[in-house]
Amino acid sequence: MDEINICWFKKDLRVVDNEALYESSKNYDILPIYILEKEKWQQPSHSFRQWQFCKECLIDLREDLYSMGQPLIVRIGDVIDIFEEINKTFKIKGIYSHQETGDYLSYKRDQRVRKWSKENNIPWMEYLQFGVFRGSLKRDKWAKNNKKHFDKEIIKISKNFKKVSFKEEYLPSDEFFDFENDQCLGRCKGGRKEALKRLNHFLNNEIYSYGKNISSPAKSYFSCSRLSPYITMGCLSLKEIFKKTKFLKTKDSKMFNSRLFWHCHFIQKLETQPELEFKEYHPYFENIRVKNDYFLEAWSEGKTGYPFLDACMRSLNHNGWINFRMRAMLMSFASYNLWIPWQESGLKLAQKFIDYEPGIHWNQCQMQSGTTSINTNRIYNPIKQGKDHDPKGTFIKEWVPELKDFSEDLIHEPWLIKNFDNYYSYTVNYVKPIVDLKLSSIYARRSLFQISQKEGYWSISKLIYEKHGSRKSTYKSKAKKIKNKKTLNKQFELDLNL
Ligand SMILES: Cc1cc2nc3c(=O)[nH]c(=O)nc-3n(C[C@H](O)[C@H](O)[C@H](O)COP(=O)(O)OP(=O)(O)OC[C@H]3O[C@@H](n4cnc5c(N)ncnc54)[C@H](O)[C@@H]3O)c2cc1C
Repeated sequence: MDEINICWFKKDLRVVDNEALYESSKNYDILPIYILEKEKWQQPSHSFRQWQFCKECLIDLREDLYSMGQPLIVRIGDVIDIFEEINKTFKIKGIYSHQETGDYLSYKRDQRVRKWSKENNIPWMEYLQFGVFRGSLKRDKWAKNNKKHFDKEIIKISKNFKKVSFKEEYLPSDEFFDFENDQCLGRCKGGRKEALKRLNHFLNNEIYSYGKNISSPAKSYFSCSRLSPYITMGCLSLKEIFKKTKFLKTKDSKMFNSRLFWHCHFIQKLETQPELEFKEYHPYFENIRVKNDYFLEAWSEGKTGYPFLDACMRSLNHNGWINFRMRAMLMSFASYNLWIPWQESGLKLAQKFIDYEPGIHWNQCQMQSGTTSINTNRIYNPIKQGKDHDPKGTFIKEWVPELKDFSEDLIHEPWLIKNFDNYYSYTVNYVKPIVDLKLSSIYARRSLFQISQKEGYWSISKLIYEKHGSRKSTYKSKAKKIKNKKTLNKQFELDLNL
């Protein structure tokens, strides 16, 4: 039997700066494999648009590996069944992969793989994909360890591989996963070549207006890196991006680099506590919201009657991407104004994002819903956001053409027009607001405040902070606040006018 190492590709679809690939090819021939797990792709957080993007990344990776002598083997099925099959054909010396902090399903799958590898005496080596660490990590040391990861050298492989033959399968047709039809016509194309193009374009042109335009949904489409889908699928490593930007030393590049650390900071939270995908950080916030399919659908289709919010949602539906502030506003509206469970609105957003990354996503969904108890709560006002970031209403007109004839004065609040009922029923095919913004914000604020007054609330909050809180420069002041209940109460004095 030939002796080989398995290089198991997951969300690290690149040959450069791939430690698992490098280490696996040191002493033995390798079998580079990507396993398409139907169960994973059938989860409600996954979508056709994400699969299309992933498929393009796989095609690119296959080409890159082919040029090194050994194309990527793609197989469909359960990971252990396929490893069993390889084990019958070859003597597996080791399995090499990056450490994945994915969703709960991949967490459980990794536990099964670990058990199988032990039972079969096959060592499984996992390498750091990001600065995210397993085991009992002390939060105080996290930033230091994270930096160490970013400071390491980029790994390059110069040798060619010997071809190892193993049964291959074609990438499945689009019907395979029973996805809903979801064209996402404006999405970016997947793969490392596209990722490098985008990175170079960003660094040579757009990074200089990164900070200035970061909050505008129209301008940030160009000035933000929009690298997130490529980072999610691992077409680029964070380290590669960081190394290219750290010498720029401008205000914009520093701001950008800090986001790369945030990426790891959020994923670390899910690594530490995988249940956060479903369960509230603070148990006092469990089941406080009410399921409402009508609200959920109206919000998801961009038909809430709030023009700027609807424009953002429709733009996201088309492009599969929107900037941070608008994501936060969309989530805040669903959680505070519509008062629907973040788990449901979060799933809708996950499907829409090409860059769906569970560690960032579910943490942000909870943060924007006020369930962490350790972050300042923010209720975004979509009218104010619109006036601030789309003052002339051009973004609204692009995505909500029903309002194309409205003047600048009225476009953010079309209900202020005279003869509102007539206008709406006969001339403009645009919905009335589905909820009263002010009343719903007051209700949300009061509800969260009352919960914060319950006995035992702050002692639980303190434990949450110790486990998950950021320890950067704000550490001392935050720790002080946690000790001082009075000050912390202020976080419930929500800013309704953000
Ligand atoms: C409700 C909600 C859900 C989100 N879900 C996701 C998600 O599923 N996947 C995802 O990658 N990001 C998510 N984000 C974070 C953020 O909005 C995106 O990372 C960012 O908009 C991606 O665009 P960009 O690549 O142009 O970012 P840039 O501003 O160019 O930043 C570069 C990179 O830094 C990282 N980054 C930037 N902002 C954040 C942030 N706030 N938190 C963590 N990392 C960050 C990303 O890797 C990003 O690609 C979410 C935010 C919110 C409010």
